[in-house]
Amino acid sequence: MFEDVNDFEDALEKLLKELEFDLSNPFEEVEKVLCIEPHPDDCVIGLGGTIKKLTDAGVEVVYVCMTDGSMGTLDDDLSSHELAIVRKREEEESARMLGVKRIIWLDYRDTELPYTREARKDLVKIIRAEKPDAVLAPDPWLPYEAHPDHRRAGFLALDAVAFSQLPNFASTDVAAGLEPHQVEVFGFYYTAKPNYFVDITDVMELKLRAIRAHRSQFTDDVWEKWEPFLRTVALYYGKKAGVKYAEGLRFMPGMFLHITPFAELI
Ligand SMILES: [Zn+2]
Repeated sequence: MFEDVNDFEDALEKLLKELEFDLSNPFEEVEKVLCIEPHPDDCVIGLGGTIKKLTDAGVEVVYVCMTDGSMGTLDDDLSSHELAIVRKREEEESARMLGVKRIIWLDYRDTELPYTREARKDLVKIIRAEKPDAVLAPDPWLPYEAHPDHRRAGFLALDAVAFSQLPNFASTDVAAGLEPHQVEVFGFYYTAKPNYFVDITDVMELKLRAIRAHRSQFTDDVWEKWEPFLRTVALYYGKKAGVKYAEGLRFMPGMFLHITPFAELI
């Protein structure tokens, strides 16, 4: 049948049908989400509204925080050790406000998240143990993203989702009783190529309060610039979605995350 298709657009449409890729509600059959963040505040900044809506609908959301957040200060009286402790407390409070009950800390040093076999295996182990239906992570191809932890967290998440299903990858985990696990839904946040939007207009103020729970990050003078920035981002996605405030995500069929020259088109 496919050999009769002569046009790329027709082929793409048929291929997506074949792959059962449906963007109308990627979370429809999702009961558990792993949200991967480079630092203790990225899940709420990128997806706070979406997370609140998911937990309200009974979905379990677990955060995986890659680093300890210990560099996030301009205060030279605050040691990196003290700051890491403060940031854990703030992240726990912020997560609770969104209905998130559990945070897994990998505690890599802030600004030094390594793109290594070790870090990849850490994430594979978590995916195999937690068995999430969906994994969400920062888009590592966000143009001009300057923070290496953000780029690397995105790449590590992609690698881990690709490899967690392979029994010969990190096979000592499998021998120790962890089953290979296939993640059904993978999505990017902090993306410039969103293809799915969540209307967060009714939870925007709660999202902002949950971001401000990170008091060490958002002092009054910092917040003066950040509140307008965060509202502008939400309006940017909202305009694309036809609502006031939205969050934008990018979902792709697993197959398109490898050797696909037209992956950007969906
Ligand atoms: Zn960050």
